[in-house]
Amino acid sequence: MIGSHPEQVTTVSDPLPFALPDIGEAEIAAVSDALRSGWLTAGPMVSRFEEAFAAHLGPGVTAVAVNSATAGLHLALEALDVGPGTEVLVPTWTFTATAEVVRHLGADPVLVDVDPVTLNLDLAAAERRITPRTVAVMPVHFAGHAVPSAGLRALAAAHDLAVVEDAAHAFPASCEDGVPVGAGQSAATVFSFYATKTITTGDGGMLVTRDPDLARRARTMRLHGFSRDCFDRYRNDRGSWRYDVVAAGFKYNLTDPAAAMGLVQLGRAETMRRRREWIAARYRAAFADLPLDLPATPAAGQRHAWHLYVVRLRPDAPLRRDGFIQEMSRLGVSCSVHFIPLHLHTYWRDTYRLTEQMFPVASREFARVVSLPIFSTMSDDQVDRVIGTVTKVLG
Ligand SMILES: *Cc1c(COP(=O)(O)O)cnc(C)c1O
Repeated sequence: MIGSHPEQVTTVSDPLPFALPDIGEAEIAAVSDALRSGWLTAGPMVSRFEEAFAAHLGPGVTAVAVNSATAGLHLALEALDVGPGTEVLVPTWTFTATAEVVRHLGADPVLVDVDPVTLNLDLAAAERRITPRTVAVMPVHFAGHAVPSAGLRALAAAHDLAVVEDAAHAFPASCEDGVPVGAGQSAATVFSFYATKTITTGDGGMLVTRDPDLARRARTMRLHGFSRDCFDRYRNDRGSWRYDVVAAGFKYNLTDPAAAMGLVQLGRAETMRRRREWIAARYRAAFADLPLDLPATPAAGQRHAWHLYVVRLRPDAPLRRDGFIQEMSRLGVSCSVHFIPLHLHTYWRDTYRLTEQMFPVASREFARVVSLPIFSTMSDDQVDRVIGTVTKVLG
């Protein structure tokens, strides 16, 4: 615990962390049962979690559980034959995982600037970066606000691009047409169950798709390129020792205790989302008169996951971004920044000779974004404390 260390000197006795997982007795019991079952790696709980997750999104969806969203994104691109000589469109406003998996396959991520309102991939800017080598686009539903699916589909259709959605922030969420993120027409959508994401298995992720061939390839590559996984052999072949390797695969499977936890989290996902939505509404009302630009409100019928609550300091604010975060921290409220755009990181900048001028929106907005705490276990008092502290710092 931050602040509980005896040598830690702080002005506040109980600082509010930026994020905490929402783990209850049901998750603890489910993990205990999984441990007692004797099956620890991918087994019956993983199958159940996959089936429940797919059913949650609707008919025709297949879910493939993996040990991280990064792994799921890697598997999706691999199944789509992304490789040397090809390019994939990626927003610069994302976590490095979105782009690194493109490099793992020997392909090139082409970074794209973002929409100034949502900080999601700018579809017009993406279209301008298309070349004969472009094979795929990876939209990121930033903060849980879905990219417009109609525009995305039109872009992909016009240029014959595969769509792999990075939905690490977007469970549960839905698009402007009411279709859940993950239930649309994209080649694949990948969710994250990292510790601070909207539902968690500690580490974990889920690839979902409507394409049976993509699902089959992802399943094979998820576990060493085995033709059938260990649980399948146990279940259908009485634990036969015989297996066949059909590709040089990866070690990307989820474990049964993690899946048991995921099943419980899945059942609570909408309740936890509603709590975050309530917090977002409190913030919106309380910050209306402060020198802040607030997150865009979703369209009617669109469900926002509210994974993050990102405000932007206006020029008339008394502090710049770094000073604001420092002052909030001094007063006991931890904030964060999402994201440091990829073109500002050494590796991406140097590898692709990127400049700030190539991404005018992202470069400008980065200087003034702050993520405030928004997690389902925040008490009403803690929400009030964030509001009071922001108001005090900007007052
Ligand atoms: C967290 C995150 C990831 C990676 O998720 P892991 O499950 O940790 O691999 C990918 N993309 C975005 C936008 C993220 O925020």
